[in-house]
Amino acid sequence: MLKGLFQHFTKDEPHQKRKIEPIIIPRTEHNISRQAIRPNALKVLYRLHNEGFSAYLVGGCVRDLLLGRAPKDFDIATNARPEEIRRLFKNSRLIGKRFRLAHIVFGKEIIEVATFRTHHHQAEEEHDARMHKGMIVRDNVFGPIEDDAERRDFSINALYYNIADFSVVDYANGMSDIKARLLRIIGNPELRYREDPVRLLRAARFMGKLKLNISPETEAPITHLSYLLQQVSSARLFQEVLKIFEGGALIDTFHLLQKYKLFEQLFPQTAALLHQNETIKLLEVALTNTDTRLQTDKPISSSFLFAVILWRPVQEQALREEAEGFPPYVAVERAIHIVLKKQTEQLAIPRRMQITIRDICFLQHRFTQRHGSRPLRALEHPRFRAGYDLLVLRQQAGEHVQELYDWWTQFQVGNREEQERLIKEASNSRLSRKRRKPRKFKNSHKKKIPTDATNQKTQDKF
Ligand code: ATP
Ligand code: MG
Repeated sequence: MLKGLFQHFTKDEPHQKRKIEPIIIPRTEHNISRQAIRPNALKVLYRLHNEGFSAYLVGGCVRDLLLGRAPKDFDIATNARPEEIRRLFKNSRLIGKRFRLAHIVFGKEIIEVATFRTHHHQAEEEHDARMHKGMIVRDNVFGPIEDDAERRDFSINALYYNIADFSVVDYANGMSDIKARLLRIIGNPELRYREDPVRLLRAARFMGKLKLNISPETEAPITHLSYLLQQVSSARLFQEVLKIFEGGALIDTFHLLQKYKLFEQLFPQTAALLHQNETIKLLEVALTNTDTRLQTDKPISSSFLFAVILWRPVQEQALREEAEGFPPYVAVERAIHIVLKKQTEQLAIPRRMQITIRDICFLQHRFTQRHGSRPLRALEHPRFRAGYDLLVLRQQAGEHVQELYDWWTQFQVGNREEQERLIKEASNSRLSRKRRKPRKFKNSHKKKIPTDATNQKTQDKF
């Protein structure tokens, strides 16, 4: 029977299908307790149920509860139409393309309620939305729960917790995959990835974050379809990258993204430098560090992670700019601008975030300027801490910044007297260095150095 069900899902002709009977897992046979469900989500479920609608928790929250993890948010699926949901809940608003989703607002908490959806391809929807902006042009988007299950991505994401009897309803064999900790895409893998290439990223994300194995059929097409991510909008990819950052297990996820050639679709400039030990090392140190922070419930900053990931391309580009004759600070500024411009072709990083990334990278240059009032001004910079954290990672990754790192570590905690002594010390060694070695590229706009700058040069400059 289970086999039959799964075979059904691999068929590509929805109009030929017979009614699918789900597997019902009664309350006594699963571990989801109502105590683990947030009170506001329960309130919404009961309200819908009492009004005669069917109401289920669905998606990530059911999966996480079954895996014994705390869900991030609680999503609800129902047969009530958006306008009915709107009517039932005063604290609701309809959102999304053509108002197909309802948000029920409880102060800071938002519970998302979606009406069961029928088959509808993401790409088709986007196309359709562009052509008929703002108008409801088709009302056949809603359908039975079976269709709603079938259009979800992975079997473990297609489980429904029924508030009517506290059972789990399983149309895609998700429960046995949960038990086997197996990630399996619903339907024909290649077709499902083509239909929405973001699923390629989601596969790597869930494997990494939830420590799942992947079924051979689900895994097989990922690498050769990775290029499909180029068709996805930069806004959507940016959102997916944020989810990856927030998901934890970043180091494992990074290795998976690399293995399936997905990383290069997201960060091509960084990927081009991954053959260099210092690039890999910096990412590994940073991501391991972030995982530790997330495990201990410390906040993480996505801007900081972007700055770390883009730092090596910025460093390399700055060397090329200096080779063109630009003075160091202009070279770094130009490099940041060029790298961010290229990066935003893949990921729509918002402006506000770009400014933070720029500040964190530019501080690496300012850290080399330790004379006069400059160090004190750098210390007052609102992003000093983040900039210093990147310097720490660079030191941990083995970049030759030990002296800078020691200096700034002492400088930021030192009293006035100590700070003055450190500035004097740095100025003296700067002067003696200057006497020994004239500044390299001053007035040499025409002079070029090889663009494949060596590591030693990199280390000297920053
Ligand atoms: P997370 O805990 O990271 O939020 P999630 O599974 O809840 O994981 P969401 O992006 O919040 O992920 O999506 C909610 C649900 O919507 C998923 O569990 C899945 O059933 C469905 N879904 C999301 N994205 C897709 C997609 N690209 N294709 C098919 N179904 C999807
Ligand atoms: Mg979710």
